[in-house]
Amino acid sequence: MTAEPPNPQLSSHDAEILEKYRTERAKRIRADGNAQYRKTEGELAYFLNDPFASPMQNRGSLHDEVDVLIVGGGWSGLLAAARLRRAGVDNFRIVDSGSDFGGVWYWNRYPGCRCDVESYIYMPLLEELGYMPTEKYATSDEIRGHALAVARQFDLYPHAVFQTRVNQVRWDDRAARWIVTTDHNDAIRARFVFVGNGPLNYPKLPAIPGVETFKGHSFHTCRWDYAYTGGDPGGNLTNLKDKRVALIGTGCSGVQVAPALGQSAKALYVVQRTPAIVAVRGNRPTDSHWQESLEPGWHKARMENFEAVLQGMVRDLDLVGDEWTELWEPPLLPEGADPREIATLVGKMDLEKMAAVRARIDEVVEDPATAESLKPYYGRYCKRPTFNDDYLPTFNRPNVKLVDTQGRGLDRITETSIVFGDEVHEVDCIVYATGFEVVTTSHKAAGLDIIGRDGQNLDSKWSEAVKSLHGLYTHGFPNLFIVAGLRQGAPTLNFPHMAEEQASHAAEIVARMLREGVDTMEVTQAAEDRWCATIIEKSKIDLDYIRDCTPSILNAEGHLEELAKQTFSTAYGGGPFEYVELLRAWRDGGYLEDLALTRA
Ligand code: NAP
Repeated sequence: MTAEPPNPQLSSHDAEILEKYRTERAKRIRADGNAQYRKTEGELAYFLNDPFASPMQNRGSLHDEVDVLIVGGGWSGLLAAARLRRAGVDNFRIVDSGSDFGGVWYWNRYPGCRCDVESYIYMPLLEELGYMPTEKYATSDEIRGHALAVARQFDLYPHAVFQTRVNQVRWDDRAARWIVTTDHNDAIRARFVFVGNGPLNYPKLPAIPGVETFKGHSFHTCRWDYAYTGGDPGGNLTNLKDKRVALIGTGCSGVQVAPALGQSAKALYVVQRTPAIVAVRGNRPTDSHWQESLEPGWHKARMENFEAVLQGMVRDLDLVGDEWTELWEPPLLPEGADPREIATLVGKMDLEKMAAVRARIDEVVEDPATAESLKPYYGRYCKRPTFNDDYLPTFNRPNVKLVDTQGRGLDRITETSIVFGDEVHEVDCIVYATGFEVVTTSHKAAGLDIIGRDGQNLDSKWSEAVKSLHGLYTHGFPNLFIVAGLRQGAPTLNFPHMAEEQASHAAEIVARMLREGVDTMEVTQAAEDRWCATIIEKSKIDLDYIRDCTPSILNAEGHLEELAKQTFSTAYGGGPFEYVELLRAWRDGGYLEDLALTRA
């Protein structure tokens, strides 16, 4: 049955599509919501083993003191360390669980892995390092290489402690120091702690009955096992030529990895729950003429232009000019438009963009039933889109089969097979492209306990919602900075952009505190309350839109009562430009009002 058009300006075809959105959403919604995933622990702990680990260095435990201890050696940690150096702070240490720098790019080396934002804006410090990516969308190898180059440029290796997981940071009020303890019996004292362990640090697995019973080989995309598959991040997974492989998950990682698996495996079953948006990529080598034409300052200007275009602040100059802006471009609103008119324009544009995404599938995928199954029916902002030119053609291969689980996921995994309804597929290997724990705060996902003044645990303080000033510091936790967290700051699609702004800001503040002999700085309760009120007041979260979205991390898997609790935790609605300006003004003066300072 077709629903009445919700708005007279929508055609009956539009109304049918919207009804289809609702039907698809209803299939995908599930009672267990965010609890549907299994932690990679206990009998599944082997999923966390590091296939890239160097031989472990035998080192004694550390019991010394540093000015700044940085948790995490990904972009947040690297940029924070680089900016501490620039600010004249050299007594810092970086602790990371991997055996080198890189963070997500240390772990994610699956075949086909590339940045999904243009590398000329995604890769930080390009001008400072005099480096130009070789392609518009660089491979994970090239991005990791750049991360290591940043570490060398700023001489960070002597400051790094690898293959070490920070378990706890505990504030010692009498000593006015953090005590940082690790899984190597270290107890490092630190005046300041930067928590920069990123939102994608803890892989999650679906709680499909029988996951633990599978007797074949299995691993998560962020721990790719080349010893098993053969080949390298460029593909050519020769050991799979006689293997039947199931790929579970068709998000950003699943879409990137499927083509290489399809090329090499004897049989590939792509297990889909919700179809991804798969837009055009159009990767190409870097044009040397363009490179030569760039003026100093081009890098920051390009990053800012990308943000401005996505926000509809700039319309006539789109420097990146890729499908991100094509897909997420906001509509041009006539002056004086009323809310109903705006909603209609936004809704119309949404329907058009998603229709184009679906039309591409019909053009590429030969089997009409498979093409139909691959079509996403939800709003364009409901999920992070993917961009790929090899994923859809993969379904034209005779060895590749889409297992469309109709929003439900697999019913069961047995010792030797995957099961959905009557479909049973015997497989040798299961690859989980099922994403990361991003719902909780990242320190919690990483198993890091943060204990502040009076023994208060940050998880307890934030059990209902994140409360902070600027997303960076929180009352009761002196000398602690959360660098590039997703909550209460102004995260951008292009993660390193805002990570660098926050890292520079935090480094400048710490340098000033050290110069001025400040022992402790703690954000006041009043400043924190004011910021929480600002977050709510400025919130641009469109609850109606999110409510209608297919379940995902964006809408607490469709459980809106959970979402309501998170209002405090959303991003600063004024956007990244306002946020950066606000941080600058705060550094230039306002900070004294918002901080309680003590001097030794
Ligand atoms: P993801 O976007 O969370 O995707 C997880 C996939 O697993 C989804 O397709 C999900 O289906 C599926 N899934 C979960 N439980 C399932 C079940 N029981 N049965 C079948 N399928 C199931 O994870 P990701 O692809 O690893 O990406 C995570 C984030 O990493 C992205 O948002 C992006 O920011 C980042 N990323 C970036 C790049 C890049 O820059 N190149 C590449 C990869 C990832 P549903 O959709 O139904 O939930």
